[in-house]
Amino acid sequence: MNFDGMISVEEARARILDVVRRLAPETKPIAQALGQVLAEDVVSPVTIPPLDNTAMDGYAVRAADTEGASPEKAKTLRVIGEVAAGYLFEREVTPGTAVRIMTGAPIPGGADAIVPFEETDEPPGRTFGAFAKGRTEVGVFKAAAPGANVRRAGEDVLRGSVVMREGTELRAAQIGVLASLGKESVSVYRRPVVAIIATGDELLEPGQPAVEGHIYDANSYSVAALVEEAGGIPRRLGIARDTVEELTAKIHAGLDADLLITSAGVSRGDYDVVKDVLLREGEVDFWTVRMKPGKPLAFGTFRAPDGRRVPHIGLPGNPVSAMVTFELFGRPALYKMTGRGGWERPTLRVTVEERVENTDGRRFLARAIVREREGRYYASLTGPQGSGILTSMALANALVVCPEDVPALEPGDEAEAIMLGPVVGDG
Ligand code: AMP
Ligand code: MG
Repeated sequence: MNFDGMISVEEARARILDVVRRLAPETKPIAQALGQVLAEDVVSPVTIPPLDNTAMDGYAVRAADTEGASPEKAKTLRVIGEVAAGYLFEREVTPGTAVRIMTGAPIPGGADAIVPFEETDEPPGRTFGAFAKGRTEVGVFKAAAPGANVRRAGEDVLRGSVVMREGTELRAAQIGVLASLGKESVSVYRRPVVAIIATGDELLEPGQPAVEGHIYDANSYSVAALVEEAGGIPRRLGIARDTVEELTAKIHAGLDADLLITSAGVSRGDYDVVKDVLLREGEVDFWTVRMKPGKPLAFGTFRAPDGRRVPHIGLPGNPVSAMVTFELFGRPALYKMTGRGGWERPTLRVTVEERVENTDGRRFLARAIVREREGRYYASLTGPQGSGILTSMALANALVVCPEDVPALEPGDEAEAIMLGPVVGDG
């Protein structure tokens, strides 16, 4: 057991990141890998595009045949056939000839440029196949440079090249790239399963009828959503009453997870059973972190029946404190477990529009809305800043940082804003 003095946000985070480990890779179908992180360098088995092909609907020509063409002096070429994407045109484009061609179709042999329909005398709106009904010539209005509108084989991807590196997060474009390489599955770091336990005799499950003196469990739900946003798989284990038996049972139920999160019962003044049980079941330190909201924090490990050490983060009970401490400590831990290289949020320099008071020498993270006006960013508070006032968290797109040694930010002062969501625009 270890009741430390105050530690900084950075020290608390470093101690946590020192213990949590990146998880093992797994093979996932690409359609199920969104948000996961590559555990391998991806080497392409194919060249994309596989052949030179046309970027436009038009006519495949020999550029030299179009030299000097203009609307007044069209160059007339003999049309020897047509070709669509997915087909090969087997014959050569010889001097004085052209092939009608559709976007994506391979360039026929002999041709070195594409003249779009717009630069010919072909009336607009004709469909593929209509040519065969009589047209044997095309008038070209404009000279084509060699290579015009030709997409080169391999201009996107060369066979054997590394297309994406280990550590890349798979978003929509990366999943599209994997599909374009013909890959149906990919090696990614496993998503951490996170067991979430709310503690407290006063808590009710949403959906239960209200009971005088009781409150609904917000933390299980906000934290589960934050876990999911951070790439984890939340497992809400529900509410443990403040009894040794219930809490012990819930902790045991959570030990097959990769990370265990509890909320409440960890502040210094607390003599809850929560602390006793945490201390009995694992190696847990109780920290006082120099921040607000969210001063109390527990961190440790539990030994699972299979011998694994399961890290545990004990969040404070106040709903805003629980969310903000998860943001500063839980999210970085999950980012490390999921194989991401960093965890930092984007930050902005903002001008504060109202006084932000910081009374007790801790880092104050004020719930704020950051707006952009004429290229500058301004922050105003979303309402009362008590650690229990969750609605002002729901309105915030940022946490404005008032440093430990600054007693107040005054209107007009500059500060750093940790962005939780998009900036609100001018309009
Ligand atoms: P504690 O850390 O147990 O002292 O709790 C601090 C405050 O947070 C108390 O007002 C609790 O009622 C409240 N609280 C604890 N757990 C939750 C929860 N899961 N959802 C909403 N409020 C909570
Ligand atoms: Mg409590």
